[in-house]
Amino acid sequence: MHIIETQQLGHTYKGNIDALKNISFIAPRNTRIAIIGPNGAGKSTLFKHFNGVLKPTTGKVLIRGEPITKENIREVRRTVGLVFQNPDDQIFSPTVEQDVAFGPTNMGLDEEAVKHRVHEALSTVGLLDYRTRVPHHLSGGEKKRVAIAGIIAMEPQVLVLDEPTAGLDPQGVRDIVKFIKNFSVQYGMTVIFSTHSISLVAELADYIYVMNAGTFVAEGTVPEVFSQP
Ligand code: ADP
Ligand code: ADP
Repeated sequence: MHIIETQQLGHTYKGNIDALKNISFIAPRNTRIAIIGPNGAGKSTLFKHFNGVLKPTTGKVLIRGEPITKENIREVRRTVGLVFQNPDDQIFSPTVEQDVAFGPTNMGLDEEAVKHRVHEALSTVGLLDYRTRVPHHLSGGEKKRVAIAGIIAMEPQVLVLDEPTAGLDPQGVRDIVKFIKNFSVQYGMTVIFSTHSISLVAELADYIYVMNAGTFVAEGTVPEVFSQP
């Protein structure tokens, strides 16, 4: 059974904007998947379906074979961790450690367990020394890593990253790439990311979906997709 599957998924926003049309997507366990395509192709909309932020207009989203319902939405959000493109959309707390603690606390873990998760997550993204810093005063790349730490502290089975390197300087890009590589290998985790960077795709992706105007126009491994006419 696939950890995420969509069947003929369609999404229409208010104003008759067909952002997704007939999307059939599969994320096997332990793979790194890139979704590429121009702005407005529907990548962010698709990601928001992976953890129930949006509801399908047509078709289905299955998480470990089960449709997302009111009853299992909390479980789904623990299984699929979504890191938004703009870290300011998901950082709310006055300090870095409080922000990273938010998710595990919300899951009902006790104080010791939360502390442990926060420590692990900050160490994974290389921000242990930033515990008491104010998130909004950090650089774009640092904020991005705080947002990622907040998600991985919940130990999801799938990490979904919307343009993880957008707006970062070269060092910020290298940090994120290194993190994604090490992290996915260490935990055998499924990582799904969108990007405009071909080098990121070449370096990280086992499988690529190419999106345009709400549909997949090509898919395959890196050599398969890039050797197409
Ligand atoms: P991408 O992430 O590939 O840039 P999006 O999923 O953000 O694409 O957008 C897909 C399409 O849906 C675009 O035409 C965009 O303008 C539209 N769209 C995105 N969000 C909304 C919204 N909240 N309301 C209406 N239209 C939206
Ligand atoms: P619900 O469980 O009601 O759907 P959430 O758990 O997503 O809501 O969020 C509850 C409140 O906490 C909201 O006001 C939201 O803005 C805030 N919040 C959400 N995510 C975070 C975070 N990572 N750090 C701090 N506050 C957050």
